[in-house]
This record gives sequence, C-alpha cells and structure tokens, in this order.
Amino acid sequence: MERKTGLILALDVTDRLEAVEISEKVAGYVDAIKIGYPLVLSTGMDMISQLSKFAPIIADFKVADIPNTNRLICEQVFKAGADAVIVQGFTGHDSLEAAVKLAKEENKDIYVVTEMSHPGALDFMQQVGEGIAKMAADAKASGVVAPATRPERVAEIRKIIGNDLSIISPGVGAQGGSASDVIKAGADWVIVGRAIYQAEDPAMAAKKLVDEMKEFI
Ligand code: C5P
Repeated sequence: MERKTGLILALDVTDRLEAVEISEKVAGYVDAIKIGYPLVLSTGMDMISQLSKFAPIIADFKVADIPNTNRLICEQVFKAGADAVIVQGFTGHDSLEAAVKLAKEENKDIYVVTEMSHPGALDFMQQVGEGIAKMAADAKASGVVAPATRPERVAEIRKIIGNDLSIISPGVGAQGGSASDVIKAGADWVIVGRAIYQAEDPAMAAKKLVDEMKEFI
C-alpha cells in the first residue's frame, strides 16, 4: 500500500448505496478503505470488488483459525478483490505464516492485530501484544494493527518491529485517539470510521484529518 495521505477509511456502514456514496466522496483523501463484517455480512462479498474501484480494500475479518483454514479464508478474500486481510496474531506463528505465505504468492498484504483499541483490550490482549508484534516481524507480515487510543503502545510496538513493517492504527475520533499524536508515535496510517462516515460532510472530515497529519508524514 502506498502512503499518500496516511488515512484509511473504516467503512462500517451496512447499506450498499451509503457505502458506495461515502467511498466516492472520500476516495481522494484515503489510501485504502477497510471493510469488515458489518458491511460484508449485510451486502455480500461482491461489495469488495465494487469498492475497490475507489481505493485498495483492506478486509478486516480478524481471521483467527488453524493454518489451513486461515489460508482458505484468505484465498477467498483475495479472490474477491481485496488487497489486504487483517488476521489475529494470538493463534500463533503457524496460523500467521500460512496467511503470509499465501499473501506473498499473490502479491497481497497481511496485517496482524497486536492489541485492539477498545478498553476491554486491556483484559487479555495487551499482555501478549508485544509478543505478537515480534512474531509478525519474524513472519514478515506487511504490518500490524495497533491502537491510536494508546500512542505509547504504538511507540513500543514500533521499537519491536523496526521499520520494515507498517503500523495501521484505529481508534482516532469516536474512540478518542488523535491522528497527529499516533502518527508522531510511529504509526504509518490512521484508520478512521465513525468520525468520517457519520459526519455531516464525510469528505470535509477526511480532509481535516489529512491536513492535521500532513506535517508529520
Ligand atoms: O468508528 P471507529 O473509527 O472507532 O472504527 C475503528 C475501526 O477499526 C472499526 O472497524 C474497528 O473494528 C477497527 N479496529 C479497532 N481496533 C483494532 C482493529 C480494528 O478499532 N485493533
């Protein structure tokens, strides 16, 4: 994925027309569109190819299975037109390696969740986040997902993975994180959902974020 604006739209709407309209409006401000279960379960897998006309698609299915099933899932998602898949890391190195191997064969990307951005992530995930980041680097994944709600964790994860992997970071806006703070902490992209798609003017909301990050990118 090429970094031009540093912004990824998290498109968690459930209506096809709305999804297309918002994508059309913000396409000029985003480097990718992340879609996941809310949109795909309500509209179907063909939503991926429909939206790929506007930007590269990151499929956030947080895949968490045995190696063979991880590979089968990623195969289908890439076949549907996605450029990247988000997988969970807690399933361990072999599950991750199966996804990364397939992605490399197909010239696609795998991003690994280290810890999530919501408060409950502190219950279990934060304790294993650094180990998962190290595993993602060893497996040569394209990058990791780390929380904009905790920029100090992003900085920590950057130290662990070095500069070969990217950090994509959700939690800006609705969950309280600041775009410029997390970019300064070492993230490459921020992922923003509600603060854009629920805004009265999604294009203006996206533009504001891009402007805010510009000097740090
Ligand atoms: O609406 P909001 O900007 O909070 O959306 C954040 C998006 O990032 C959602 O799609 C959520 O599922 C996702 N996400 C997250 N934390 C992670 C991984 C993904 O918030 N670690």
